[in-house]
Amino acid sequence: MKSIMHDKRDGTCYLCMAAGDYTRKTILEEHHAIHGTANRRLSEKWGLKVYLCPAHHRRIHDSKDGRKDDLYIQRAAQDAFRERYPHEDFRQIFGKNILADDTLPSVSDTADKSCLDAQLKAADDDGINTLMNKRLKQLNDCIHQIMTKRFSKIAVFEALDSTRELVKILEEVERRKAG
Ligand SMILES: [Zn+2]
Ligand SMILES: [Zn+2]
Repeated sequence: MKSIMHDKRDGTCYLCMAAGDYTRKTILEEHHAIHGTANRRLSEKWGLKVYLCPAHHRRIHDSKDGRKDDLYIQRAAQDAFRERYPHEDFRQIFGKNILADDTLPSVSDTADKSCLDAQLKAADDDGINTLMNKRLKQLNDCIHQIMTKRFSKIAVFEALDSTRELVKILEEVERRKAG
């Protein structure tokens, strides 16, 4: 089954992209998003796989440092599954519900989006920097999703949100400079 998460022809590494690197790689390895004996076969069946550069692939399987990346991909896999097969039950098929576990890194962290105005007012310059970096990271995550999933309308809207918030933050920075 062809991947529903990542187009191999793009030549990109799924995790390099998450860090903003969209270049084509000379060597790419196939990685099944939900691994383990039974789940690997299921990942194949449902198209839950991505392409990784050898360094990222090795890190995911061989080291503790790869744990976060591993979860990031698993989460994206369940997301893609939900979008592509809305009538299927991921949990029943794979025996776990990755998205329900909120200790995992989120693809786009929306928790503090609502109160940006208040946060901006209260923040010192370092705080503003932190807010800006968070939004940039969100925007990058959205672009990553748009690049890999192509037709993800949600990701496009999220990118729009993040962009609007970045404008707000920049306006606050300008106001402070002027004042
Ligand atoms: Zn990579
Ligand atoms: Zn793998």
